[in-house]
Amino acid sequence: MGNRAFIGLGSNLDDPRQQVLAAFRELDSLPGTHLAARSSLYRSAPMGFAEQPDFINAVAEIRTRLSPHDLLQALLGIEHRRGRVRSFSNAPRVLDLDVLLYDGQVMHEDGLTVPHPRIRERAFVLRPLLEIAPDCLIPGCGLAADFLPGCTDQQLERLEE
Ligand code: AMP
Repeated sequence: MGNRAFIGLGSNLDDPRQQVLAAFRELDSLPGTHLAARSSLYRSAPMGFAEQPDFINAVAEIRTRLSPHDLLQALLGIEHRRGRVRSFSNAPRVLDLDVLLYDGQVMHEDGLTVPHPRIRERAFVLRPLLEIAPDCLIPGCGLAADFLPGCTDQQLERLEE
């Protein structure tokens, strides 16, 4: 029960695989929330600022009774506990958590935009999302699968665990 939401995870510092695996567990233990599915881990080349390590990315599907805003606050809390320091845009990070989709809702509010504005442009979000939700719809945009062909130039490797 609860609202169906998808969370994007990314890390490129302090043992990124373990950061992402730990974040899955932290999502599962948020109040009124459980982890319904998780993708494989993927390795992606950094975007924007290139002089930094590759990222490990994944997507989680959760069921949650938290509102979108409370969910975002909870994600920021997890990032903070894992030692994320905000410096500059596209900087290396211990853990980045994004609300990708929340129950088919469309929101443009201060500090929270859902669907996440960059889902459609990023192979490291689309591939793991489609792995666990192949028929996924991006409200207001269409099928997530239709955007993957536009991202084929981005380096992405699915990892064996
Ligand atoms: P970043 O960590 O660089 O992805 O940026 C995080 C900030 O983006 C947060 O403080 C949020 O206020 C804002 N934000 C807006 N929409 C979203 C979303 N859908 N998921 C996560 N953060 C969001």
